[in-house]
Amino acid sequence: MFDTHTHLCHKSFRKDREEAFDRALEAGVNLMLEISWDVRSSEAAIRFAEDHEGVWVAVGYHPHESRNTRTPSGHSHNYSELTLRSQGNNTRPPSGDSHNQLESQGNNTPNYLQRLEELSKHQKVKAIGEIGLDYYRDLSPRDVQKRVFAEQIELADELKLPMVIHCRDAMDDVLPIVAEQGYYRGVFHSISADSEQAQKIVGLGFYLGINGTLTYDSKRTKSWLPRVPKERLLIETDCPYLAPVPYRRERNEPAYVRYVAEAVAGVLETSVEEIGDLTEKNGKELFLG
Ligand SMILES: [Zn+2]
Repeated sequence: MFDTHTHLCHKSFRKDREEAFDRALEAGVNLMLEISWDVRSSEAAIRFAEDHEGVWVAVGYHPHESRNTRTPSGHSHNYSELTLRSQGNNTRPPSGDSHNQLESQGNNTPNYLQRLEELSKHQKVKAIGEIGLDYYRDLSPRDVQKRVFAEQIELADELKLPMVIHCRDAMDDVLPIVAEQGYYRGVFHSISADSEQAQKIVGLGFYLGINGTLTYDSKRTKSWLPRVPKERLLIETDCPYLAPVPYRRERNEPAYVRYVAEAVAGVLETSVEEIGDLTEKNGKELFLG
């Protein structure tokens, strides 16, 4: 199986990162795409992937962290230290989805696009992400989120890499920005969409990333899941966030992607093996093809 969205470099795995990786292998998860949220986490993800077979990497700036970027012109959007979340020693996964939890601080780089481009040359890097807009938590100003999203779409296009797109309560802005950039390769991860939006996203050429929310908050997704092309479906954990039932509200980990496959199989009335194989094939096609 291919867990197409992991954050094993998140600090909640500080104590048992290797064990979590081993548990994934034991559960039949032989491929993982480790997703970054800023330059530091991109570097950490590459280091982790170098030592672990089957782990691939997406480098990029999450919308939450976009306030910490600087543009090529040197124009700084490094907002006050006061807006940074306290790091603390808490190893539990946060209930929300902030990725501002790396073990060390100091995300900033004079030219984040240039650094991402350098990192993208590494043979383990297969995507740009996660990038997008998050109006649910609004941790970065929206104009900054939009700019950093558009800049990274342009980078992905230049590098011919697929994108991992994060979109929360922001579909009305995400789709026009994507259209303006005119680049349509990648996945809408943790897809939250109505039927019309899901069909539109697939129609543009994107894949849909299904995660543990299908095990508890599934009505809307279930309404369109049987009607989108199966070859566009991917499964993911988004660990340490969004653990599926029966681990809901606990720390998520790649081994649990099996519960996502089970939930998809339930909706599509097929076997977990078939969904595991299908989504692995789809993931390879998008990221490793
Ligand atoms: Zn994520």
